[in-house]
Amino acid sequence: MHFRDIVGQHPVKQKLLESIAGERIPHAQLFVGPQGSGGLPLALAFAQRMVCSNPKEDDSCGTCPGCIKAAKFAHPDIHFTFPTVGGSGSVSSNFLTEWRTALSDNPYLNIFDWISFLGAENKQGNITKAECVQILQKLNLKSFESPNKVLIIWMPEYLKKEGNRLLKIIEEPPEKTYIILVADDTEEILGTILSRCQIVKIPQLSEKTLLETLQSKHSLESSEALNIARLADGDYLQALKMMGEADKNSAKVFLDWMRKSWKGNGVEISDWVNEIATIGRENQKFFLQYGLHFLRECLVMPWQLMEQIKLNPEELNTAEKMRQVLDWSKIEAMCNLINDCTYQVERNANPRVLFMDASLQLNNIFKS
Ligand SMILES: [Zn+2]
Repeated sequence: MHFRDIVGQHPVKQKLLESIAGERIPHAQLFVGPQGSGGLPLALAFAQRMVCSNPKEDDSCGTCPGCIKAAKFAHPDIHFTFPTVGGSGSVSSNFLTEWRTALSDNPYLNIFDWISFLGAENKQGNITKAECVQILQKLNLKSFESPNKVLIIWMPEYLKKEGNRLLKIIEEPPEKTYIILVADDTEEILGTILSRCQIVKIPQLSEKTLLETLQSKHSLESSEALNIARLADGDYLQALKMMGEADKNSAKVFLDWMRKSWKGNGVEISDWVNEIATIGRENQKFFLQYGLHFLRECLVMPWQLMEQIKLNPEELNTAEKMRQVLDWSKIEAMCNLINDCTYQVERNANPRVLFMDASLQLNNIFKS
């Protein structure tokens, strides 16, 4: 992966490139940023740059043998550790074929995409003790083709306490060995690991960057690009998914849900739930995401200038009506409910039970 293929993040790229050019690369860095901000793509671009034998000032060359292997995620001196499924003996090297395909499909993927890619939606990913032992073995070998060696640990949150096995190597890796950990946030990472890494914050992308990318890279027309950029909230992964298939109906599905939950007619709600149960997880997430966006705009409406409100005229009309029957605390309760629904959808809750229960809770909020 090239630095130039990464969406936005120019200051981060610049800092990384400067550290390479000035030979001041920290031995262990933790890239931490929200989903869709590009932590893993940045780590991949960094790794490719480190094994490139003919680098340009601002990127790897893309044509040397090192780059060609790195671009296929198959360079012998770029090692990967990531959560796997399959019990305590499970190691990343057993899943390299799947990993390479998943990265080629979309290097912005998240943990849920990865676990479902493995066909194991209901399982919990894990970075095992066996994997930690293998890391120590791999990093203590001589490098094969490049003077440098890079280990990317994706989602170190999943190391749990096994992470303690890596403290020594993170603190003092062998010469010319660089470790990049890539995480969504630092909360679930052992403090002992955090304190041994240089932390590189990867900020959320701006709406403007997303908008420009959707238009220039994906040739979306401006109104569609604007809609998606607003809804995706700085998350390029989410934007890609929205572009892919669904979303166009999210507004309709969400407002329909609001109306039916407000009326509280059991038959209508049950019909709606049966329909929503069949549209699949990703689409369910889209419409929930839309719902959050819509409610947030409702919340801030009274304090915003008209042109600051991120709703189209039709949505604005509905929002104004809803604002008359919903006070601040009710909207907040709905936002919490929808956040909770998203969490449950990601964890494969039964959609019929989940959305039926949520509809009843919505009705309670309306009537309270
Ligand atoms: Zn190269």
